[in-house]
Amino acid sequence: MLAQDDDRYPGGARGVPADQALVRRANLSLVLRHLDEHGPRSRTALAAETGLNKTTVTSLVNELQARGLVKEIGPQHAGSVGRPGLALALDGARVAALGLEVNVDYIAAFAVDLASRVLLDWRVSFDAMCAAPARSLDELATIATKAMGELAALGVKVAGITVAVPGLIDTPTGTVVVAPNLRWYGVKVAERLAAPDVAPGVPVSVANDANLAALAEYTIGVAAGTRDLVYLTGEVGVGGGVITGGRLLSGADGFAGEVGHVMVDPAGERCGCGRTGCWETKVGLAALVRMVIPDRAYGLPGGVVRDPEERLAEIEMRRAAGDPRVDEAVAEVGRWLGRGAATLVHLFNPRVIVLGGYFARLAGRLIPMAQAELDHLGMAGPTGRCSFAASGLGFGAASRGAAGVVLTRVLSDPTMISL
Ligand SMILES: [Zn+2]
Repeated sequence: MLAQDDDRYPGGARGVPADQALVRRANLSLVLRHLDEHGPRSRTALAAETGLNKTTVTSLVNELQARGLVKEIGPQHAGSVGRPGLALALDGARVAALGLEVNVDYIAAFAVDLASRVLLDWRVSFDAMCAAPARSLDELATIATKAMGELAALGVKVAGITVAVPGLIDTPTGTVVVAPNLRWYGVKVAERLAAPDVAPGVPVSVANDANLAALAEYTIGVAAGTRDLVYLTGEVGVGGGVITGGRLLSGADGFAGEVGHVMVDPAGERCGCGRTGCWETKVGLAALVRMVIPDRAYGLPGGVVRDPEERLAEIEMRRAAGDPRVDEAVAEVGRWLGRGAATLVHLFNPRVIVLGGYFARLAGRLIPMAQAELDHLGMAGPTGRCSFAASGLGFGAASRGAAGVVLTRVLSDPTMISL
């Protein structure tokens, strides 16, 4: 509990280190988080429940109101006796978080305000596999600029931008070290978006798409609250986000969870990363398309840009027309999904493996195959029971997770929002 406050120990008295700003910030966060987690309540209730004194709470609430993060919503009875106090609630209608995602065949943008109202939700088809990195980065900057304009027109302040990228990220600089399926090597994403023509003065961070999607699933998705879960992206590439004990596993450099590039077949297909027989060459969307509609395979230059939904629609159309390759290919992907999942279960012992992206769309046919294979290969048997779940966030999981990261940052440090 952060009950220690500058109102109680003015001027760093009693030998307390005089880093009052830090304590103040922590207490602002405590009050804001409390309202976020527990809903509207009076100043008196806030004081009682947080352990802060009433004078401190009044001062903190005044500041949060001035920053546009908290509002009064009317009288609330604390009990059967006494005068009703004015209830306070999270406001946040003036504060937005923007999440962006670059993937192989689309760019997505998703924005919410602090009260979780969705302000925009876009997905634009874009062939990043065939475009040069500079061209892809320009397209991302164009969409970011358009989103910033839209949010400005709504009268909200953008507290931050997080960009989801299917690759390895150097977090301190916001640089994509390598994103094999985008053909990105050393691409300075944060620097480009912070430019005067895009989002000047707005903090920009870059993170791995699967990690962001895993956070979204853990907080608002189908497996929300499951402290041990693995999320699989189910795009052209397959990335993994691992939540273990309620925390995202990052590894020494933040590169953990690159499960799509675990080699499963030395005699297999060449992968976008340059190696051979990676797991994603068996289960990625590109593998499914290659098996069902080889003439429309990914990476063919000059092809019409297709959204993954359109690819899936075409596959379903072929199935409806009686093409036997579709069911065979989906079953093959399902079996390989189960084989890879067995490795994940042996490494991380998750309770749930959340299938994102296109896996979620075909979950009804993929999961029975994958579960049977996993049950057959899993060493722990029923004691290590792990089941698959289809994501309800689909191709929007990473951009939602990206916006969520910004909101978490505001809740941790309300002083990010200027007075
Ligand atoms: Zn690979």
